[in-house]
Amino acid sequence: MEELSIIKDYKMKLDYTACHAGSENLVATLTVDRDLTDLLPYINATAEKAKYISKLNWIKFNFRGFPEKYKGKPWTVAIQGETVSIRSFVEKDTANKISEECIKYINDIILQREQIEPSYKEWKQPKAIDIFKYLPKSNCKKCGFSTCMAFAAKLALDEVSLADCSELVLDSENYIKISEML
Ligand code: SF4
Repeated sequence: MEELSIIKDYKMKLDYTACHAGSENLVATLTVDRDLTDLLPYINATAEKAKYISKLNWIKFNFRGFPEKYKGKPWTVAIQGETVSIRSFVEKDTANKISEECIKYINDIILQREQIEPSYKEWKQPKAIDIFKYLPKSNCKKCGFSTCMAFAAKLALDEVSLADCSELVLDSENYIKISEML
C-alpha cells in the first residue's frame, strides 16, 4: 500500500546555520521521495522529546543515532512534508552518516506503524518573552543577533539552538529553565 511505502531515496543539502555563517555548525536538509505527514503521530508516540504541531504538519524530536556510539548531545530533527532537517554538525562525514541513520529510523517507524499507538498530543510553543527572561540580556551579539530578544524570538520558532548563546552557562539554572520550554 502507498501509505506504508518507505523512503527509498533522498537528496541532502548542507548549510551553515543562519546565525553562525562561516562557523563550523552545519544543518542537513533532506528532501525525501515521500510525504511524511501521515507518519507524524507515530513519531510523536515514539521519539525522544517529540514536539508535534498538527496545524503545521510539523514535528521536532531528538535523535541519537544507532547504535549507541554517539555519546552526549542528541541531534535535533524536524520534519514537515517531504523535508527532514537535522542539526547541528561539525563534520560533513557525521552529517552524512547521521542522515542515513535518521532515514533508517523513519523507515523503521513506517514499517512498524501498525504496532504503534499514534499520539496526537500537541506541543505548546514557548513565548519569546518567557525565554528572554532567562537569557543573559547583555545584547553581546555573539549569537549573531543584535539583541537577546531577537535571539529569543528565533529560539521560540525553533530556528536556532540554545547552545548558540555562548554567554549562557551550560546546565546553569537559567539554561535548564529555557531547555524545559523548548
Ligand atoms: S549570545 Fe546570548 S547574551 Fe549575547 S546577544 Fe545572544 S542571546 Fe544575548
